Amino acid sequence: MPEQMVAARASETANGGAQQVDVTVVGAGFAGLYLLHRLRKAGFTAVALDSAGDVGGTWYWNRYPGARCDIQTIDYSYTFDPELERAWTWSEKYATQPEILRYLGFVADRYDLRRDIRFGTKVTAATWDEAADRWLLTTDNGAPVSCRHYIMATGCLSTPKPPEIDGVKDFKGEIYFTGRWPHEEVKLAGKRVAVIGTGSSGIQAIPLIAEQAAHLTVFQRTASFALPAQNGPAPADRLALLEQDRAAYREQARWSLAGVPWPQQMDVSWQLSDAERRERFEKAWAAGDLVYILTQLWADQGVDVDGNTLICELIREKVRGIVKDPETAAALSPHDHPFGSKRPCLDTNYYATYNRDNVTLVNLRQEPIKAITATGIETDKRTFEFDVIVFATGFDAMTGAVTAVHPITGRGGKSLSDIWANGPQTYLGLTIAGLPNLFMITGPGSPSVLSNMAPSIEQHVDWVVDRLIAMREQGFTTVEATDTAQAGWARHMADCATVTLHRLANTWYTGANVPGKPQGVMPYTGGVGPYRSICNEIVSQDMLGFRLTGPDVAEQCNDGEIVRLQPDVRLVLNMLADMKLPPLESFGAQGARDFLNEFNAARPAGRPVGEVGSGTLLGADGPLPYRLYRPATPGPHPIVVYFHGGGWVLGDELSDDPFCRDMCRRTGMIFASVGYRHAPEHRFPAAAEDGYAAARWIAEHAAELGGKPGPVLVAGWSAGGNIAAVTCQLARERGGPEIAGQLLVCPVTDCTFDRPSYTDNATGYFLTRSLMYWFWDLYSSPADRTDPRVSPLRGKLAGLPPAFVVTCEFDPLRDEGVAYAEALASAGVPVEQLQARGHFHASFTMVDVVITGVSGRVKMAHALRRFAGLAQETEGEAGIRTAAPQEINAAAS
Ligand code: NAP
Repeated sequence: MPEQMVAARASETANGGAQQVDVTVVGAGFAGLYLLHRLRKAGFTAVALDSAGDVGGTWYWNRYPGARCDIQTIDYSYTFDPELERAWTWSEKYATQPEILRYLGFVADRYDLRRDIRFGTKVTAATWDEAADRWLLTTDNGAPVSCRHYIMATGCLSTPKPPEIDGVKDFKGEIYFTGRWPHEEVKLAGKRVAVIGTGSSGIQAIPLIAEQAAHLTVFQRTASFALPAQNGPAPADRLALLEQDRAAYREQARWSLAGVPWPQQMDVSWQLSDAERRERFEKAWAAGDLVYILTQLWADQGVDVDGNTLICELIREKVRGIVKDPETAAALSPHDHPFGSKRPCLDTNYYATYNRDNVTLVNLRQEPIKAITATGIETDKRTFEFDVIVFATGFDAMTGAVTAVHPITGRGGKSLSDIWANGPQTYLGLTIAGLPNLFMITGPGSPSVLSNMAPSIEQHVDWVVDRLIAMREQGFTTVEATDTAQAGWARHMADCATVTLHRLANTWYTGANVPGKPQGVMPYTGGVGPYRSICNEIVSQDMLGFRLTGPDVAEQCNDGEIVRLQPDVRLVLNMLADMKLPPLESFGAQGARDFLNEFNAARPAGRPVGEVGSGTLLGADGPLPYRLYRPATPGPHPIVVYFHGGGWVLGDELSDDPFCRDMCRRTGMIFASVGYRHAPEHRFPAAAEDGYAAARWIAEHAAELGGKPGPVLVAGWSAGGNIAAVTCQLARERGGPEIAGQLLVCPVTDCTFDRPSYTDNATGYFLTRSLMYWFWDLYSSPADRTDPRVSPLRGKLAGLPPAFVVTCEFDPLRDEGVAYAEALASAGVPVEQLQARGHFHASFTMVDVVITGVSGRVKMAHALRRFAGLAQETEGEAGIRTAAPQEINAAAS
């Protein structure tokens, strides 16, 4: 049974004055309908305005042949009401547009929503009235609306973009836009039809148009990756999972990365054989599920060019297998963007359609369109005649529907077009500084189009309505994002986008499809679950980043940035916090070592290098093990003597294996990781003396190790950074070995604990202050601590080899690292610093976990190569592809 409606109806003032409501909702699609329902239940008066003739939003307008959703319909549904879920059964895995529209109509009826929707009504302008703390919205149909809160549920893909081709108005035949398809039947039988555009809309429509038209000519500018939808009934396994525990299934979706409950894939591509990768790919191809293929093949597929290229090639192989004409197959195979960086499409018979005699593909990369004429389309090579042209040319995505209301004038007369002059600026994709009481549902800056829209919409609506309820209870009448919070969100957005490959493609996600639009990745790429937790955290931190005011209450503003950590660092730290581990020092030295070994066993395997070997070298007091990582390129290579981290107590020559492999690949140098002696069994100065002895031994045996005779380099992380720094000082004092450069990553450099980073980052960032105390106590007595062999900051620094010093913002050791770099510089040592924002102590050694550490390691590798006198390369010597922007930028420009 429909739920009881509790809210009062909106009141209309007499004499044609403004309609007075608490909340205006713009849009009556998925988001607008749920908003209206929740607002009413919460006792707010509300009206929804929509330019369409009925409910449905995007599903009202996109009626082109073949229109379907591309998220399985069991997932693409409301979940807020279990009774609604029971009352509706989808007929197919991917429902058609008519069925989805019927569903939304069913929802509107069930909750009696239409009575508060003004159809055929567009908002033409919106003005914030500072005296009244209300929005005034003018419309193109009927009374203006005065409201306390203005919520734009206008959708991300609802404003079709103009075709941007000369001569459209001259065409005498029929013209259709997929995004504004007529309600009456379009007859294509016997006609010569052109389709321009091969995104999701074109790819769904093309096979069906080809079945009707006398001839179909497809004009393709950028080839898309398309996967067979394998439509039919909902897959039994997914359905069983849902039905077995509906609530758990939905909850898992809410905390997942893309809004569909699939687990986090852990295997990395280089751990799998060709056969295993192919098997996974074939399974995904057969599954016909975008989220599955985008997330479940291997962990590095969406974050690493190499891992991604493997999938691109497998898909291109499929295209070659389906399309008979090799030239057409080649044109249909994307080469200019990573898979997933542009929205992949789901199709039914798309590629096979090009085997039909009545279908021709025109590759606009080879013959661009010059103009549309009265009778057809002219490229710079040919003239085509058509009866019908279908524009499947896409949308002014994410911002188009918001900026279509013009002007939107906020506080102090500031307009949205000014605020967004350089691209959309938002806090959470929900609010905009300067525009109080205005909310967007799935706006730019939220996961939106990179997620299953249904749970994302529900999360947004719930968050907004819950805030309105809380404000009402607390007496606040306005809420507005602060500039600090908004700028912080932009930084966090950019940090998240750096992890993904979206930045390597020109797409509607980045605004590149609309000429002149400012460019940048618009959706939040950090994932649905993390986003939800951030929204919740804002509430638990007294609405962090919002200013709230009301007539009878004191202003509240807890200003600040919600995420200062790099996104992947935040995930790692949250995961560690969830594990509720006892402090490492409470295990005792052996227990901590065992724990570390167990912890390391669960990390992604390091990447392949040319060769990994091991051996024994002579330390200060006997043999020490070492591990050697040799690049795949022909030697001899310079040698980097590497010292692992672990507070002089933990770890061994294997414990920084992924870091050594990664740096070996990036530098094209041999990394020799030394297993120096540990405390408490061997206290100060054992580790320092071993480090020095190891560097000397390796320099003397360079040729035997396949290295280049001559100076070595030293590097180390944490206590290993300490040993590397000390080794440089001892080598200078003791007449060798010659050291060409030192890389110190988060090094321990001094024995005092009073620098601010020791207090600011005392707990919560993995390496704690108390763990450092423990390490120091196990390694050295207070009397020894000022010795430069453990506190190199207290040593003589002039004449040391050039240094690259890395420090991390959220690390107790940050300030002593900075102090060492500054002291080196003052002593005349050439030194470069990398002060890594948002990073923690283990950011750079958690290779393939903390992806944002890549750019730092690239810089470290450059520094080491420079120290060794090697030429810099854009690609790592052993074949690491950091990016190939020149290829990728060729896309839509
Ligand atoms: P789209 O992905 O932006 O595709 C537009 C196509 O038109 C592209 O191939 C584009 O080429 C081409 N194009 C644009 N302007 C052109 C011009 N002046 N000359 C030649 N070609 C031009 O738009 P869409 O297909 O409507 O899809 C948009 C989004 O809507 C999808 O990515 C998806 O998220 C959503 N959608 C979903 C479904 C579904 O659920 N199944 C269906 C349809 C749409 P370039 O790439 O070179 O710019």
